[in-house]
Amino acid sequence: METKRRLIITAALTGGVLSKKENPNLPEQPEEIAEAAYECYNEGAAIIHIHARDKDGKPTGDARIYSHIHGLIRSKCNVILQDTTGGGGNLGIDQRITSLDACPEMASLNMGILWRTIGPYAGTLFSNTRPEIERFASEMKKRGIKPEMEVYHHGMLREVENLIAKQLVEPPYYVNFVLGMRYQGAVPGTIDNLITLKAMLPADAVFNVTGIGPSELPLAVASMLIGGHVRVGMEDNIYYRKGELAQSNAQLVARVVRIARELGIEPATPDEARTMLGLKSVACS
Ligand code: ZN
Repeated sequence: METKRRLIITAALTGGVLSKKENPNLPEQPEEIAEAAYECYNEGAAIIHIHARDKDGKPTGDARIYSHIHGLIRSKCNVILQDTTGGGGNLGIDQRITSLDACPEMASLNMGILWRTIGPYAGTLFSNTRPEIERFASEMKKRGIKPEMEVYHHGMLREVENLIAKQLVEPPYYVNFVLGMRYQGAVPGTIDNLITLKAMLPADAVFNVTGIGPSELPLAVASMLIGGHVRVGMEDNIYYRKGELAQSNAQLVARVVRIARELGIEPATPDEARTMLGLKSVACS
């Protein structure tokens, strides 16, 4: 039998913008995050994208909370742990980078400056200057953490090229197109934008697609059809369909798995995803 294409599904459970106010099912505390991660793993997610929150539900870069979450998830399954370095609007660069001290296998790396237009920190800059991006990338390289390079518009692919030229990232280069953010500097979540972004990828790149809000499902399907991977979850979209809140992150994962299987595509296991992305064992400081 012919081997089926493997789809790496990332579940972004929490994020740094929304809260239980918008969807009471959004996991915030470590136990809730670990439970949601395990449910998503059981449905076919290979990677869990993690944002830690403090006791009051605010984004935090506290490596102890990240480590606690890692331990809780690790006690249940071998899913790939991917921590944010975008954090939330209340965190500066020095606080965002500390999640790396918890030594995840992967971490997000935002590839350019945005300006927040929604959420509790609307009106503030989401700073990701070139020197800041290089600093994040260097810290990840030192530890063997694989960056998930988040690209919100076409110009940010220049920053991917910059990291490649400076050998701060290693192939395969893992790029996540985050489309449909309402922040200034992001492009709408359309298939046309996805196609033109894909055409600009460097050689040896593997791409993932994150559609925000109503673009989550259509862009996930489009990505499956053109050879990309998929991220879903309540960080990006709190609805199952228009007017109906998602009951869980796992519900969103299960839907893309059903669609993938109809297309003859099988979700990658965490170990298959490790091989596809060239993950290494992480050297903790
Ligand atoms: Zn995130």
